[in-house]
Amino acid sequence: AAKEDGRGRHAFYTPAMGEHSRRRVAVEEGLRHALLHEQLSLHWQPKVDIQRWTIVGAEALMRWDHPVLGRVNPAEFIPVAEQTGLIDDLGRWALQEACRTAAGPLAGVCISVNLSPAQLRDARFVNHVRDALRESGLNPAMLELEITESVLMEDVQGALDQLHALRGLGVRVALDDFGVGYSSLAYLRRFPFDTLKIDRAFVHEVLARKDARAIVQMIAQLAATLGMRTVCEGVETAQQLAVVAKAGCHEVQGYLVSPPKPLIELQKFRAAWQPHAPEMNTLH
Ligand code: C2E
Ligand code: MG
Ligand code: MG
Ligand code: MG
Repeated sequence: AAKEDGRGRHAFYTPAMGEHSRRRVAVEEGLRHALLHEQLSLHWQPKVDIQRWTIVGAEALMRWDHPVLGRVNPAEFIPVAEQTGLIDDLGRWALQEACRTAAGPLAGVCISVNLSPAQLRDARFVNHVRDALRESGLNPAMLELEITESVLMEDVQGALDQLHALRGLGVRVALDDFGVGYSSLAYLRRFPFDTLKIDRAFVHEVLARKDARAIVQMIAQLAATLGMRTVCEGVETAQQLAVVAKAGCHEVQGYLVSPPKPLIELQKFRAAWQPHAPEMNTLH
């Protein structure tokens, strides 16, 4: 029976693995030409100040439309870009495009750009940011860079130096996806973050637990004590909004407000925006 199982598994998985690696090759090949063929774009997801219920920021999220594969998710192509070194060009493009947009059509909105660990490790990165600011004319205070905790683990001193150099340019730095991964509270004190983004997986998980509010509250209070703003990612319901608002989080970003949108759609969304928060009467 064991032998049969083994054969069955073999027969079942081989074609699937073949398909998987063909896809991987297609993504990698496609990604090499994506920039040149103008298949990349940025979508924008608004961030809303909970107290004033105004749009205070927008996160730039990369989108790739491949002529055959169709829309490929960043969760699939960003890791491939990192493994192949293509992230240098892709990341630099995203930074430049985001700064141009923020200096032009999105003037007045703080923008956030995601960084890969490889970008932060690159000694030239601070110069790339300085160049993008100079070329676009963007006020550095309007740019925030989002990094994840994994960056901090690898080379603590190198990461610290880079973050201080970036802040020296006048840009802000956010810790993305807090609450998943390593989530050491020690990082919060050690690294100069302006903003703490509580991960959407964490928001969902803690809401299902009895002690959920206490945990979110603790994080929000700690961040406030350390002088950081908190953004809750992935807020999809008014009930979740109520919980994170009561916990003292400053901003929300999630489908409750809006999914990421192409620039033109975000502009329409801003024009139609009414500064009235949804009812939070689930709060008791
Ligand atoms: P992230 O930086 O944590 O971005 C937030 C992700 O959560 C986005 O996924 C967004 O669409 C999604 N999201 C926002 N609100 C909700 C919600 O209410 N519910 C749910 N279910 N999802 C929500 P997206 O755009 O697919 O991006 C995934 C990840 O890919 C990003 O996570 C980021 O790590 C990476 N990424 C995207 N663009 C770039 C980029 O330009 N450079 C780098 N290095 N990474 C990027
Ligand atoms: Mg992000
Ligand atoms: Mg995030
Ligand atoms: Mg995330």
